[in-house]
Amino acid sequence: AVKARSGDGWQFFSEGLEEKARQRLMISTGLRLAIERNELSLRYQPIVAAETARIVGAELLLRWHPPTGEVSPAIFIPIAELSGAIVPIGEWVLRQACRCEASWRQRWGEQAPYVSVNLSARQLGEENLPEVFAAILRDTGADPSRLLLEITETALMADVEANLRVLRRLAEFGLRVAVDDFGTGYSSLSQLTRLPVDVLKIDRAFVDGLERSEENRAVIRAVAGLGAALGLKLVAEGVENDAQRQELCACGCEMLQGYHFYRPLIEADFARHFQAQQADGGEANAPSLYYL
Ligand code: C2E
Ligand code: MG
Ligand code: MG
Ligand code: MG
Repeated sequence: AVKARSGDGWQFFSEGLEEKARQRLMISTGLRLAIERNELSLRYQPIVAAETARIVGAELLLRWHPPTGEVSPAIFIPIAELSGAIVPIGEWVLRQACRCEASWRQRWGEQAPYVSVNLSARQLGEENLPEVFAAILRDTGADPSRLLLEITETALMADVEANLRVLRRLAEFGLRVAVDDFGTGYSSLSQLTRLPVDVLKIDRAFVDGLERSEENRAVIRAVAGLGAALGLKLVAEGVENDAQRQELCACGCEMLQGYHFYRPLIEADFARHFQAQQADGGEANAPSLYYL
């Protein structure tokens, strides 16, 4: 079989590309109808206080389940960005996030977890994002100061001037901003200080192997120092074991997120965990806003 194909290598390669292109087309076509077909849902991954492991927030993570089987956001989000489908889908996510904040606060008051939600570069580039957001806040009654918008370092730094204009307007509403996947892009530190940012989310890549790598430890310490100097809170993503938890605590990282604590959960399970925590001396918790 190898010999039969050897004279035909290009054809073989092009079949692979065609297959990829076909998949991409199927995904972008399917995504356009995903909202009306009710194929989108969210998972809620707890974010915990490093010192106590108590839940203080939740990151909302998008899931898409077309009839053909679930597709990972790592695959469909980049395609949705290219096709523009991320704009209506992202708006659907924001509306869900705002509803969620309002209903949790009604249930648990000031101790309710804050709501962290991902915002794509494409959404940030939409001229009318502030108006759209203002309308969603009005419709849902969400408290903007308990919403954290996660924007990747790469998206933030791609066009600092334009982002600065949009983020200043969003910050006027009282919304909080996190730099997601911090350390994987190329931040100019002087640009970073100009942006209205509240939280740095240290990328999983630096947490992975932290307990074995002196380099990663040095990076985490440097980022923690930077965060402290700029008055930013730190969240570490992808915490998978107790050695990592201990090291991150020692570095002054206030919040942690990862499989060591919780996987992304359906809302009912998230609420059950948080409710159990409240029953078990929750009054002693700092209000979740303290962490933003
Ligand atoms: P992200 O924002 O950096 O989200 C964290 C990702 O790490 C999630 O993957 C989460 O499930 C995963 N994770 C959390 N803890 C651990 C851990 O301990 N170990 C490992 N190995 N992974 C962990 P997920 O849910 O597959 O999402 C992937 C990416 O897709 C997100 O990365 C985000 O960039 C994007 N995404 C997800 N939902 C949305 C959304 O609503 N809007 C936009 N624009 N992007 C989204
Ligand atoms: Mg995120
Ligand atoms: Mg992240
Ligand atoms: Mg990440």
